[in-house]
Amino acid sequence: MIKFLDLHKINERFREETDKRIKEVLDSGWYLLGKQNELFEKHFADFCGVKHCIGCGNGLEALSLIIKGYGFGPNDEIIVPANTYIASILAITQNGCSPVLVEPDIKTYNINPDLIEEKITDKTKAIMVVHLYGQAVEMDKIWALAKKYNLKIIEDSAQAHGAYYEGKRTGNLGDASGFSFYPGKNLGCMGDGGCVTTNDDKLARKIRAIRNYGSEQKYKNIYKGVNSRLDEIQAAILDVKLPYLDEDNKKRREIAKFYRENIKNPEIILPDTYDEKAHVWHIFAIRTSDREKLQKYLSDNDIQTLIHYPTPPHKQECYKEWNNLKFPITEKIHKEILSLPMSPVLTENEVQKVVEVLNEYRL
Ligand SMILES: *Cc1c(COP(=O)(O)O)cnc(C)c1O
Repeated sequence: MIKFLDLHKINERFREETDKRIKEVLDSGWYLLGKQNELFEKHFADFCGVKHCIGCGNGLEALSLIIKGYGFGPNDEIIVPANTYIASILAITQNGCSPVLVEPDIKTYNINPDLIEEKITDKTKAIMVVHLYGQAVEMDKIWALAKKYNLKIIEDSAQAHGAYYEGKRTGNLGDASGFSFYPGKNLGCMGDGGCVTTNDDKLARKIRAIRNYGSEQKYKNIYKGVNSRLDEIQAAILDVKLPYLDEDNKKRREIAKFYRENIKNPEIILPDTYDEKAHVWHIFAIRTSDREKLQKYLSDNDIQTLIHYPTPPHKQECYKEWNNLKFPITEKIHKEILSLPMSPVLTENEVQKVVEVLNEYRL
């Protein structure tokens, strides 16, 4: 069986170093917001090219902390792509804000910058861009809109650690960015984890307090905070893995290149990129008219695939109020999309086999 993602194999490569750093934490007897957090926050901020990194519990909370940090709430609108993972939308509704959904560009699967301006109202406070599947959003038009209407740009970088847009990394393309270190992400820990990156000193300080009960000094609560901390073991693991991230992303690019050059089947639409450095291929998503048939065919041939994602947020039961809204491009993507095996530990033989099996597929 060719696995979609072999997490054990991914993490075994760092076993000696992670064992050592985990032992350091256990020996220290200090489990939250300590030395490992400090080290990782510094290293990840440097990696992204930003001034601040604030570790937190997970990617959803990273996005939610940014919204709280800006003080957005009821009556505020945040523009967001309709085809994103549910977490982006939950971060908005959790804080009482209204998400304003915008269709993606069918070529990049990222928010269509040309459809944003018509959705801006007096209530709009921010544009949340999502670097979906690992490809950085093309920011120039969005930067211009944010400037024109005085809006914040919040990045959801949960799928795009290390991707570039015009020489800058994700995490440094807006006012503040949320990352997830869920095990399956390009930079993943061995549990839950996340962080916020920003160049805004005031926001960073506020988020640092909010994630820890709204307190800068123990038992003095200046904000109605939350408990969302990155634990020391996860920070240590991330600090071990971070130096290898660019190399791992390079391997993903090589696999994506091989897939794109060698999969030749009229039934399959391959993903595209506007710039090799913009994409870190968290997901290699193809499209096909009969997705269920192709998925079964691949499974019968011992190739595991996943779907990111089968149902768009506006069709979910939890958002009943939007179930009748129509987002045809989003709905088409969710119906046709299928994610091929993609990870830095896939072997040449495995990648070759995926290509051969796909090239023999007939509808
Ligand atoms: C994974 C993910 C999140 C949420 O991250 P968690 O750590 O699972 O909370 C948010 N947005 C996107 C686009 C994601 O892929």
